[in-house]
Amino acid sequence: MTRFRPWCSKVYVIVPERAGRITVSQKSVSLPTCTSCNRPIMPAEKASKFYCPNCHQVFIWRCEKCRKFSRKYKCINCSFEGP
Ligand SMILES: [Zn+2]
Ligand SMILES: [Zn+2]
Repeated sequence: MTRFRPWCSKVYVIVPERAGRITVSQKSVSLPTCTSCNRPIMPAEKASKFYCPNCHQVFIWRCEKCRKFSRKYKCINCSFEGP
């Protein structure tokens, strides 16, 4: 008795695409936003991040531009303003 299975005559090998190629869609990735200008911060940016020096509760992000221009930031928790 021979079972005929036409569907298994071919073996499909799924080769993963070149490693390192990451598709990042801005919709699925939540980027941190700059506390000073509310602009989303790109991972490649030389932004600084630190906890609020006053209340240590809020994580403050500062983008490259705001650091460069020494823009003020304001903590959303304690309203601490700092350079
Ligand atoms: Zn900024
Ligand atoms: Zn604070």
